[in-house]
Amino acid sequence: APRVFSGIQPTGGLTLGNYLGAMKRFVDMQDSGVETLYCMVDMHAITMPQDPDNLRRATRELAAGYLASGLDPKKSILFNQSQVPEHAQLGWIFNCVARMGWLNRMTQFKDKAGKNRENASAGLFTYPSLMAADILVYHATHVPVGEDQKQHIELTRDIAAKFNHDYGVDFFPITEPVIEGAATRVMSLRDGSKKMSKSDPSDASRINLTDDADTIALKIRKAKTDPDALPSEVEGLEGRLEARNLVNIYAALDDSTPEAVLKEVGGKVFSEFKPMLSELAVAKLSPISGEMARLMEDTAEIDKILGEGAAKARKIASPILDKAYDIVGFVRS
Ligand code: ATP
Ligand code: MG
Repeated sequence: APRVFSGIQPTGGLTLGNYLGAMKRFVDMQDSGVETLYCMVDMHAITMPQDPDNLRRATRELAAGYLASGLDPKKSILFNQSQVPEHAQLGWIFNCVARMGWLNRMTQFKDKAGKNRENASAGLFTYPSLMAADILVYHATHVPVGEDQKQHIELTRDIAAKFNHDYGVDFFPITEPVIEGAATRVMSLRDGSKKMSKSDPSDASRINLTDDADTIALKIRKAKTDPDALPSEVEGLEGRLEARNLVNIYAALDDSTPEAVLKEVGGKVFSEFKPMLSELAVAKLSPISGEMARLMEDTAEIDKILGEGAAKARKIASPILDKAYDIVGFVRS
């Protein structure tokens, strides 16, 4: 049976990129009737330095973001990774399946380690094998993610295939990435060639789910654009990275397509289009940020949801890990 898994790191405030590229689509999948598991991947978060109090707050705020976006703990399993030790246990096995050469090719490691690779954590390097475990410990078949995670899902497939091949079993499924919609790669508002990211040092580069209406309007007004009017066909966005980004954001927020949006706004200049985009963004995001703030008033309730979610997740993960241990040849008595 199909099973959906995805995760987000509690590494800071959620961005419009996380919302459109991941969360909004998690909600769509939850409501499509398949089994869905959504995780706050706190063990991935510490691959980069994190202040413990910030990590706790970011984990609860991320849970509030999931709930405020429409995820329902009765329909989806919501939990934080560190409360389900099976992820780390299978992650170790996958560290021994993945090849150094495979991990060496991962662009996320290169981006995040920067120039000083010798000083990156070993966890940042082996991040993709833990991510493969996150997915495969549930035998998940579909993973909704943004475009930036495509390479990691391909590695997950390679790990599953190598495990199956090396042990002569047909045990782990070959997972499908689900990268769909107009906003699979939301770009920075300051630089149309960089992805919008919650860990970008410039706050003006992103819209946070917790930004108020004035902040959203200001960031969109200041967003980098070009002086030309919008085209009426998508071909006219060729080479206009920033223009394309704003049109894609509009389309995704409006559950529409860039083609349909350009039919409406083709011919407008940015001083006309940006206020339309701000209005739409505020209309869609402010109910979410309001609900997040309300939920954050009762973190005991959030912790309870995460604990219950973890218990449900372990029920699925534990027999799959047991079977993997048997296949590998670990004695259990
Ligand atoms: P970090 O900078 O800490 O890596 P992030 O914003 O990239 O933070 P992640 O937790 O790494 O967030 O990713 C969570 C999900 O959000 C993933 O599915 C990822 O593909 C998606 N995502 C992140 N940024 C974008 C973006 N700019 N556009 C579309 N999807 C995105
Ligand atoms: Mg990321």
